[in-house]
Amino acid sequence: MRIKIIGGGLAGCEAAYRLLKAGAAVEMYEMRPVKMTPAHTTSQLAELVCSNSLKSLDPTSAQGVLKTEMRLLDSLVLKSAETAHVPAGGALAVDRYAFSQIIENELNKFANFKLFRQEIDTIDQYTIIATGPLTSDALANRIKQFTDNENLNFFDAAAPIVEFSSIDMEHAFFGSRYNKGDADYLNCPMTKEEYLLFHNALINATCAKLKDFETPNVFEGCMPVEVLAKRGVDTLRFGPMRPVGLYDKSGNRAYAVAQLRLEDCAGLLYNIVGFQTNLTFKAQRDVFGLIPALKNAIFARYGVMHRNSYLNSPRVLTTGFAAKKDTTIFFAGQLTGVEGYMESAASGILAAINMLRILKNDSLISPPTTSIIGALSHYIMSENKNFQPMRACFGLLPFLDNVKKDVRHAEYAKRSEEAMTRFINQYSL
Ligand SMILES: Cc1cc2nc3c(=O)[nH]c(=O)nc-3n(C[C@H](O)[C@H](O)[C@H](O)COP(=O)(O)OP(=O)(O)OC[C@H]3O[C@@H](n4cnc5c(N)ncnc54)[C@H](O)[C@@H]3O)c2cc1C
Repeated sequence: MRIKIIGGGLAGCEAAYRLLKAGAAVEMYEMRPVKMTPAHTTSQLAELVCSNSLKSLDPTSAQGVLKTEMRLLDSLVLKSAETAHVPAGGALAVDRYAFSQIIENELNKFANFKLFRQEIDTIDQYTIIATGPLTSDALANRIKQFTDNENLNFFDAAAPIVEFSSIDMEHAFFGSRYNKGDADYLNCPMTKEEYLLFHNALINATCAKLKDFETPNVFEGCMPVEVLAKRGVDTLRFGPMRPVGLYDKSGNRAYAVAQLRLEDCAGLLYNIVGFQTNLTFKAQRDVFGLIPALKNAIFARYGVMHRNSYLNSPRVLTTGFAAKKDTTIFFAGQLTGVEGYMESAASGILAAINMLRILKNDSLISPPTTSIIGALSHYIMSENKNFQPMRACFGLLPFLDNVKKDVRHAEYAKRSEEAMTRFINQYSL
């Protein structure tokens, strides 16, 4: 039997890889480039729509634990990211084009893989729906019907990318916070006067008009920089522009610092970390140009805000990301309310594992809640009146109360790895 996957993003590609490795035949339907989403810009599979960072590599951070578990599950996204990585201190950042190409090449190695460039607006049995936060309207309407109108919307924001050659290096320096790891960040310091001028311009700048919503409900980690700035004059200085641990060549600490992170292997592009924004393009040039190092910055891509759709998963989904209504239909990725690149990919692995079990008439399974993927899946599927998207974090794990605070994260990491290893062995995955 051929399994249909709708959406060639992170979750869809990861699910396809799992199915193909198990010998199943996969038909993947990706609508780009025939029909683009408002944020994707290429026809590549597994395109990273915003940041090129897949977050922390620290094995005792929640994102690090997620990566450890995904490595045990032989994640295609993780392997490809490790091959396409660019220097980013303690984070796993990638050359986004190389990353997508590696994934596409790996899938194309399987004779049983067929890719169709086509928008789908129907829901058939034996399908994994992984169409992401920018699911096309036609399919979104169909999903709405399928889920008895329990679909929700919210909004997300992307940060601008500037050309390295346009950054004034007289006013910028490379360095990492407290000199930890490599000096991969490009720091743009500001004096108090410069910062206050910038802050005032930012809170008074013109925003782009958003069409089909009135009160955007934005995930806190993607809050537009202008919204953060309006919370108080020092909010940015305690957030994305915090100067602590950043010293220039003369050992001076600035009043505020905008940090730029490498976007591509060639070192030509940098994104302004934490500067996701809904300002008009002109306002971005005017306001961000008040940062001395960026006064002549050329924007390779402006920051933008987009629709972000996700299901009311606690009502719609059951174990293993199967639809309660029909367990031959699975949802995966951000559309299920997992938040983040790696989390989306992880849900794709679980959906595929369970699709393979459904084909053999086996029961649906999920990793133990002491693993981070198990805990996140449990959260997504558990009763919750105010369901909101969720990323991997230690707060989801059962608390370890008889462990000293300074070693708790390391203990979470150890317990999670053991739990995932047991799960994999138990079901011969
Ligand atoms: C603007 C924006 C910025 C984001 N920034 C970040 C970030 O910086 N870091 C982070 O960790 N997460 C970020 N996210 C959240 C999330 O991690 C990503 O959206 C991630 O790509 C989700 O993976 P996915 O596989 O679920 O969906 P996607 O990667 O979006 O893949 C879905 C695919 O389905 C296709 N598709 C849609 N409808 C149809 C249809 N009807 N038929 C056929 N194909 C269809 C799309 O073209 C797309 O290729 C962001 C999300 C948005 C919207």
